[in-house]
Amino acid sequence: MADSPTPMMQQYLALKREAGDALLFYRMGDFFELFFDDARVAAQVLDIALTTRGEHCGEPVPMCGVPVHAAEGYLARLIKGGCRVAIAEQTETPDEAKERTKREGKPVSKALVSRDIVRFVTAGTLTEEALLEPRRANLLVAVAPVRDGVGLASCDISTGRMELEDCAADRLDAALARLGASEVVGPDDWDDAPADVIARPRPDFRSEDGEARLKDIHSLATLDGLGDFSRPMLAAAAGLIAYLDHAGRGQLPFLLPPVARGSEAHLAMDAATRSSLEILAAQNGGRDGSLVACVDRCATGAGARQLAEDLSAPLADRLAIEHRLASVRHFHDDPLLRGDIRAVLRQAPDIGRALGRIVAGRGSPRDLGQIRDGLGEARRLRGMLSAGVDLPPLLAQAVERLGGHGALTDHLDRALVPSPPTERGQGGFIAAGYDHALDALRETSGNARKAIAALEAKYREETGTPSLKIKHNKVLGYFIEVPAKHGDKLMAADSGFTHRQTMAGAVRFNSVGLHEEASRIAEAGAHALAAEDSHFETLVGEVVACREAIAATAAALARIDVSAALAERAAEGDWCQPDMLDEPCLEVVAGRHPVVEQALIKTGDRFRSNDCSVGFSERLWLIGGPNMGGKSTFLRQNALILLLAQAGSFVPATSAKVGIADRLFSRVGASDNLARGRSTFMVEMVETAAILSQATDRSFVILDEVGRGTSTYDGMALAWAVVEAVHEQLKCRCLFATHYHELSRLAETCDALSLHHVRAREWKGDLVLLHELARGAADRSYGLSVAKLAGVPPPVIKRAKAVLDRLEKGRAETGGLAAGLGDLPLFAATAQAEDEKCDTLRDALEALDIDSLSPREALHELYRLKAEASKSNY
Ligand code: ADP
Repeated sequence: MADSPTPMMQQYLALKREAGDALLFYRMGDFFELFFDDARVAAQVLDIALTTRGEHCGEPVPMCGVPVHAAEGYLARLIKGGCRVAIAEQTETPDEAKERTKREGKPVSKALVSRDIVRFVTAGTLTEEALLEPRRANLLVAVAPVRDGVGLASCDISTGRMELEDCAADRLDAALARLGASEVVGPDDWDDAPADVIARPRPDFRSEDGEARLKDIHSLATLDGLGDFSRPMLAAAAGLIAYLDHAGRGQLPFLLPPVARGSEAHLAMDAATRSSLEILAAQNGGRDGSLVACVDRCATGAGARQLAEDLSAPLADRLAIEHRLASVRHFHDDPLLRGDIRAVLRQAPDIGRALGRIVAGRGSPRDLGQIRDGLGEARRLRGMLSAGVDLPPLLAQAVERLGGHGALTDHLDRALVPSPPTERGQGGFIAAGYDHALDALRETSGNARKAIAALEAKYREETGTPSLKIKHNKVLGYFIEVPAKHGDKLMAADSGFTHRQTMAGAVRFNSVGLHEEASRIAEAGAHALAAEDSHFETLVGEVVACREAIAATAAALARIDVSAALAERAAEGDWCQPDMLDEPCLEVVAGRHPVVEQALIKTGDRFRSNDCSVGFSERLWLIGGPNMGGKSTFLRQNALILLLAQAGSFVPATSAKVGIADRLFSRVGASDNLARGRSTFMVEMVETAAILSQATDRSFVILDEVGRGTSTYDGMALAWAVVEAVHEQLKCRCLFATHYHELSRLAETCDALSLHHVRAREWKGDLVLLHELARGAADRSYGLSVAKLAGVPPPVIKRAKAVLDRLEKGRAETGGLAAGLGDLPLFAATAQAEDEKCDTLRDALEALDIDSLSPREALHELYRLKAEASKSNY
């Protein structure tokens, strides 16, 4: 590339301007090439070689490239790496470019193939099977902040589902956390846009345009029949569709009619709650160890995606929850039916995503085959499910949507081979017998191939060269090849062969006979390909015409899969159907934490189940006891039981009465939580403030060691005030774990607060954690025993013990940390007093590391122990 940019460089730079901050994949023959900074980024993300090509402005141009045939894999890695990619394809062949240049009166040597960006590949606009995770929805979200609120439009373009919702500005983070989008777009003049929002021009977000586009896409005169859409919702829809237009360069993907989502219909949870309950991802970011991984027994990817959605947006409407529970019950009570249904589902391809690709114009013959097979399995399921007893309403509705595709599946059955290929261009996917003309063309080329085989035999004999072969390659087509030493024979003018190429060890020829047969094959092949291509278009047209019914079948299959999978999970874990109530209560008998229990089962340990009962009279449980005693686990298991029940699942307990909550909050004291940017204590307080401003008397709150992130006095004071506020003002159900036993004095003033602790026992100097909840306050924290259990060296424990004794002595004299907080005596710890008596003398003896003592130190220790023994009355 010279100083003044070459025509190709000019073309590249123009396309790059259009691509903006997306990496430009610039097609050159069999490669996509990247230049300049794009090349640097891609080489690093993809770990491929960075080279240079020519010069620009006196500098070598950095370059890297990926082969077109393997582009999908590279794209997947770039998208995962957070990049967006613009694909610039050649829009004419080199021959066409030469023709055009000639027509334009320019020298042919200057011909440059024209190129255009055909598509932007971005995380939220993927449809390719290889780039999508089967068990995870892939959402694109548009946010439209307007005067009095925010509109949200979300869509999964791999299946076409689209939802619109209104959202108060202060709930936006929670809504975005619920959606977990791969990509979020918003207007470029939005000052408080959350990080990672991709800025798009403000005029893209006009509600009038949103309404007009939706009407146009769905051929409707009015949107009234679809639901009640507010201006912000329509503005968000406009932004979403405009972005899809941009990404697909005018080719819109498949969009189902939008559904309006009511904000009151769901259990609201903010981002902090979701992450602390590890609903879709564990703390380390992976799916392993999350609630969904522990619950998911779905047989299909679509079912797993539906389950993830159910868990991230549990319902708040009793009837809707009960409908889901009834479907689970149906499969739970009939294990044989469940097994059969799940076996069929396992065979069913992902028709939702296949349909998404077909409607987006990126479908393959394999996708058509998947639609055929999936609809076939749906028909089988319908037969199996309608055969039996009365179905609960939700299942009956789903079953109705499984059928009605007879004509389409029959046609696909006749038209397609059993396993159609992913490549459309090579043909071979239309079944024999479907089109007689196509069969005849195939026969012609088949015969010609046989004729070529016969020619080979004939030429071998005629020339006396058994090593003669007829071969085929892309450049020469068919040719005759003999080893070099036999070449001369065929070179003779009257041999009937014409020379084509001389290689190192072989010579290649043509012959009239071969040419004729090869032409027959080429001609018949081209005609056959054209015929298959036109059948493909027709079949695609038919599928597209039925897209909404097919999408409804896909959704019904997913719902059936989720119901059967939850039934399977319930049967496997001995879970029970929860009783759903409107009163704010939670009565759980023998509840368990599904994820912790599963982890314990793997190591051969048993999970200790615990009851919970919060409601009108006892709204707030204050839970104390040693670290590692099971407080967090208990808190979370009850939040998860409520969440699972509202998602329509059975729950890990012997019985459960669940009063439907409007909001669920979960907070963990700062030191458990690695925060980004802000100080951990600050995060803890910001999150606690959110609860205090948002929880209602219908909410359910778990607070785990809140206040721990600061000094003892501050922390205890804050925890104290938070408990009072939850009790007096919010009046919501709350489980509060704390190691400040001073808080137990709150029971004296807060009448709906009750005291509980996780039991522990010291036995022969060792701490035994029972993971069992009991009424009453914890008497102490067993911190040293836990430290010992954790392997802190004995001399350190010994020293800590001495410090503790001193502190406790001081406390006894002053009345303790909470001395000034009330006139009433400290709450008396009665529970387990016998078992939990502390044997400090024994501890001290056990802690002695005799080998590390000098004789003088040993003598000193002996005096100290004797003094200790006479001081206490253990
Ligand atoms: P805490 O919050 O009191 O410090 P955790 O709830 O974090 O304690 O529990 C510590 C560990 O104890 C857990 O990782 C788990 O392995 C075990 N555990 C907790 N609850 C139970 C239980 N009910 N049954 C058996 N083991 C439990």
